[in-house]
Amino acid sequence: MSKILLTAFVIAAAISIWSMLRKANKPPTPKKGQSAPPRLRRMVRCTVCGAQVDEQLTLNHGRGPACLEHSQQSHKAKP
Ligand SMILES: [Zn+2]
Repeated sequence: MSKILLTAFVIAAAISIWSMLRKANKPPTPKKGQSAPPRLRRMVRCTVCGAQVDEQLTLNHGRGPACLEHSQQSHKAKP
């Protein structure tokens, strides 16, 4: 009878150790709710080349949104 108890105890210990090791090996999962939700980015069309660009990356100068490249070009065009 004691053999059965011992076997059961050993199996239970092995399972608990195994589950602990599994938890330890797992990479930390990002907690949901804490991280900010992905922001929707508004895409606008460059008035110069017509490329879709992130609105945050555009510079609006009079004629409408232009991508960084073309807004810089227009700045350099005429001093
Ligand atoms: Zn452009």
